[in-house]
Amino acid sequence: MLWILIACQAEPEWGVDYTGERLPVVDMHLHPGQWELIPPATQAFLTSRFPFPFSLNPEGLAASVLTGEGILGELDKGGIEAGMLFAVYAPRTVGIASNEYVGEQLLVDPQRLYGLASVRVDQWETDEETELANLEDAVDSYGFVGIKLAHAHQHFRMDDPHYYSIYALAGQRGLPVYLHTGTSPFPGTAQEPAYTDPAYMEEAIALYPDTIFILGHLGFDFINKQPGTLDHCIDLATRYPNVWLEPSALGSRSSDPDGTVLAGAMSAIREAGLVGRTIYGSDGPQSPGFAAGYLERTVAAMQTAGYSATEAKMVLSENFYALFGKHP
Ligand SMILES: [Zn+2]
Repeated sequence: MLWILIACQAEPEWGVDYTGERLPVVDMHLHPGQWELIPPATQAFLTSRFPFPFSLNPEGLAASVLTGEGILGELDKGGIEAGMLFAVYAPRTVGIASNEYVGEQLLVDPQRLYGLASVRVDQWETDEETELANLEDAVDSYGFVGIKLAHAHQHFRMDDPHYYSIYALAGQRGLPVYLHTGTSPFPGTAQEPAYTDPAYMEEAIALYPDTIFILGHLGFDFINKQPGTLDHCIDLATRYPNVWLEPSALGSRSSDPDGTVLAGAMSAIREAGLVGRTIYGSDGPQSPGFAAGYLERTVAAMQTAGYSATEAKMVLSENFYALFGKHP
């Protein structure tokens, strides 16, 4: 099906060159959104990072890039065949991209867009059952393939057993859990280790062996632009087969100007024998061209770290399809 589509379109050219081989690419980390649902302090922070002239009209940029259609255009620029859109419920920090909104964006092109649902936790004491039911409804209605959580943005501890029902449900339903690890530059983030250091996830990881936990950003310290808790991520993935890794955002131009951070992280993953459980993601679309640029930077990092084309292919698409399945 995909090949028929490719044959009919002259542009874009799919995949990325890697030491002479053309490798297919999936980006597992993308944020659709509605500008008006982002808190004002975070709007100001995002605007400050948009390149000129987009910074003059952030709402227009959001409308053109952050929708399902806009994201497909950004994937096309990098030859990226598919992408995963994240729902988010973090009203005090990064804002809300509801399951319903993200589910609607997936319909723009169900062949190329996958989704992770999320769950509201800000009234957990009273709403736990309702929120878990909402999560299951979203999965059943829109075909979400996993769950996105960000303890630091949603203000709940990684080792708080009150929230373990989410991990239990994820295991029962076969829904991998993607979680933000590391500090975050967004205003209002809970930066303490219990919210950002994946070592605090160990109890849950051990208690729910049927639940896949994907450690996003490899524990990077985005405040001080340091590797942060990368070692803890590698250690957990080495000891627990239900732990996977995702190297998004830490290798961006602003966090890693000369590319050494991402190359170092990809090298540590390879040395630990964890290439088979690492999935590529960018944390885009952010601004026009970011997703394509992050792919280039990741390819360069893997080359520096000595990845063969076979290993690079695993990270760029094969591991994604092994975990989340293929479109029919
Ligand atoms: Zn993200």
